[in-house]
Amino acid sequence: MYYCEICKKPADKHHIIFKSEGGQDFPLNFKYLCPEHHRGRIGPHKNEKINLIYRIEMQEKLYELLPLEFYTLDKLSLLLDINPNHMKRILNSLKRYKEGYKTSEVIFKLMGNNSYTEESLIEFSLCAIEL
Ligand SMILES: [Zn+2]
Ligand SMILES: [Zn+2]
Repeated sequence: MYYCEICKKPADKHHIIFKSEGGQDFPLNFKYLCPEHHRGRIGPHKNEKINLIYRIEMQEKLYELLPLEFYTLDKLSLLLDINPNHMKRILNSLKRYKEGYKTSEVIFKLMGNNSYTEESLIEFSLCAIEL
């Protein structure tokens, strides 16, 4: 049984990067949310700003977890808690350098071939105010 990270009620597993966007099954892509905090008005499926905040948080956690510029497949598999075969499939489309895989490219891929910035959040807030 999982509990909501916000209110501690029984929760479902939310994929921060949706599977439809190329989100992978691994702990950093999961957020446990009760029905209200998941699919309600203040949940990431209904609230674009919350969705963006969770994604920026996830991206920050990835950069904290992977402070070096390059990692090998084995090391990524271990640190991200993704089994080696699955990790191999994720890395399939990325360039392998002499030192391994480039962290920024791995994170971009894990974020659904996207990168999120604080600026996008500020722009989003400004747009929301204009509305
Ligand atoms: Zn909740
Ligand atoms: Zn969800």
